[in-house]
Amino acid sequence: MTSFSDSANPWIDDLLVYEPGRPIEEVARELGFDSSAEIIKLASNENALGPSPKAIAAMRDAATSMHLYPDGGAYYLKADLAAALDVRPDQILPGTGSNELIELMGHVFLNENSNIVMSQCAFVVYRLVAMAARARTITVPMQNYTHDLEAMAKAVTPETRLVFVANPNNPTGTMVSQDEIDRFMEQVSPDVVVCFDEAYIELLDPSLQPDTLKYVREGRNVIVLRTFSKAYGLAGLRIGYAIAPEPCIALLNRVRQPFNVNAMAQAAARAALADTDHVSRTRALVSDGIAQFETGLAALGLSWVPTVVNFMLVEVGAGRSTFSALQKEGVITRPMDGYGLPHHIRVTIGTHAENEKCLQALAAVTGGAS
Ligand SMILES: *Cc1c(COP(=O)(O)O)cnc(C)c1O
Repeated sequence: MTSFSDSANPWIDDLLVYEPGRPIEEVARELGFDSSAEIIKLASNENALGPSPKAIAAMRDAATSMHLYPDGGAYYLKADLAAALDVRPDQILPGTGSNELIELMGHVFLNENSNIVMSQCAFVVYRLVAMAARARTITVPMQNYTHDLEAMAKAVTPETRLVFVANPNNPTGTMVSQDEIDRFMEQVSPDVVVCFDEAYIELLDPSLQPDTLKYVREGRNVIVLRTFSKAYGLAGLRIGYAIAPEPCIALLNRVRQPFNVNAMAQAAARAALADTDHVSRTRALVSDGIAQFETGLAALGLSWVPTVVNFMLVEVGAGRSTFSALQKEGVITRPMDGYGLPHHIRVTIGTHAENEKCLQALAAVTGGAS
């Protein structure tokens, strides 16, 4: 009998596997904590305020209809999003998290003769999707922990099908400005599809959010990705969306499952979108939390990369061992050696109490004052 591997496509064995965090209960048990309540998780850039209460109510209401298939066209959600963003419903495609949309982009645009251009220290999923499609990944060094858009435009080759710009970027917490984006869009060939992954954009004050949707309205080859996982606090529900010119949405539509976005997610997303107060409260919590960390880290003599979003890179010396030591103190963060940043950990901004606990744990494990 041949093994599964012999039957599988030969390139599957070489794919990188995204390493998920372990359940908080398992970490608690292994480290000898009495309950998972003694542990805080500041590892996945989730919203410390939780979902909007209006989204929770919408999910309760939707629960009684779960024997029915969802609306495969997400009619009402697309209508709400189109009104909120001043685009047309046929320029929107919801997905099971924006991660699904990145995967659909791989199906539509990539093959073994193509490549993607992305920044070093940008979201790892772009590379995973490229590998699954057997496309090459061209990685462009960052400038000061920030996307170097000029170098990225120059890195494009005739085989480039997708350029990924995470703005603001995970894991660095930095962003590129409207001017940089506009210059980049002048430099890059109009034939290349540019994806602006704006997973964290709603955490910025609206006056500071770069406008990339104008390129969609102009019909440029641009795909903007947004999500309900971060500012809207619905990461567990898995819902995001792409905004792109209609011919691009039509292509992505061909490779998705007919019922890709579940009914509870559609209902919650509509309620969350309408709850602008919850997003404002989230923004305020994050900016207070950043200030709290900056004060606390300075007191510890630690450096960090200035952030515009709900997580920050903290320079701790040995990242992986500091991550382990913090975990023993009941604080889960994210080591960054996989991103080529062995001296940093990434810390998600939590509630005031969570941030305080994290700073105290950092003081304990780095031997700092505080
Ligand atoms: C968290 C995150 C996303 C969101 O992914 P979902 O699948 O929508 O949860 C997308 N891009 C980046 C860069 C992220 O950090």
